[in-house]
Amino acid sequence: MENAWQLFLRQLASADPEFTYDDVCGWSTDEFEALTGAGLISEMAQATHVSCEACPEGHWERVRWSEDGHRAFIPCPLAGTPDVNLERLRRWRGSPKQLAVLLAQALALSGEIEPLPASRIWFLGRRRASGRTPYFFFAAIGPDELPAMIEAVRLAYGRVAGVLFVPFSPPTSTEGGKVRTVDIGKAASLQDRRMTVDLPFVEVQLGDERPPGMSAKHPPKSLRDHRRAILQAYMESKEIEDMNALGSHLRMDRSALYGMVRSDKSKYGESSLKAMLTKIGCPRPTWDRAAKPGRA
Ligand SMILES: [Zn+2]
Repeated sequence: MENAWQLFLRQLASADPEFTYDDVCGWSTDEFEALTGAGLISEMAQATHVSCEACPEGHWERVRWSEDGHRAFIPCPLAGTPDVNLERLRRWRGSPKQLAVLLAQALALSGEIEPLPASRIWFLGRRRASGRTPYFFFAAIGPDELPAMIEAVRLAYGRVAGVLFVPFSPPTSTEGGKVRTVDIGKAASLQDRRMTVDLPFVEVQLGDERPPGMSAKHPPKSLRDHRRAILQAYMESKEIEDMNALGSHLRMDRSALYGMVRSDKSKYGESSLKAMLTKIGCPRPTWDRAAKPGRA
């Protein structure tokens, strides 16, 4: 559900994230139900203003009501007093707090969610990741506010190692010292009202050093999903139960296998990737192409 989910995240940068009927109209029923069902958006009092649809200007007008309260209309220089479709007055409020709750649940963090003194930022909890126990935070902000939020974390928690989730793609430089900024849009997804967070992706962002030559760019989720599907199909064909068993079957460390899925070359050598692909009978172009995997 890229569309609605991404729009929802973008809107979180505003102090009062609101969705109009016109916004919601573009979403599929599934998308709408995933967001409402997860409690990420909820209907609020109907809008008092609406844009004109009766002329090409799209001017913004306060809604007027007939005396009996049945008819809503706006003034329009071209069309007089066109009726407003009452559905268009419905609107929904986004809940950054609920997103904080879902992120903490999806990551199985320990500790209570706590708002920081700065507004629109929460401490989510902690968990083991990349061999330590970083602090997780979420800020419902835009890119301009990032330095202030990093400072807010420093003031409240000191120079801790942590992850700060934000609803946009942060700059690649790591300005935040030990606090790494992670785009929720890349790390989390919402399906059937359930949020999942890609922990290996978050761990890559937490990694201190990137070996020289390794691209900072993370392969898109579609490519990782494609590679996971290839491994899954092989596991099914060989009746291999899980990634541990697959690791022993291929005589390979599980973290190397995950590294291959993520293109994290610090976890594996080129020759072991070749050997793995030969063993599972997957041609290299198929492995690197984000298309539907062939029949295993
Ligand atoms: Zn008009």
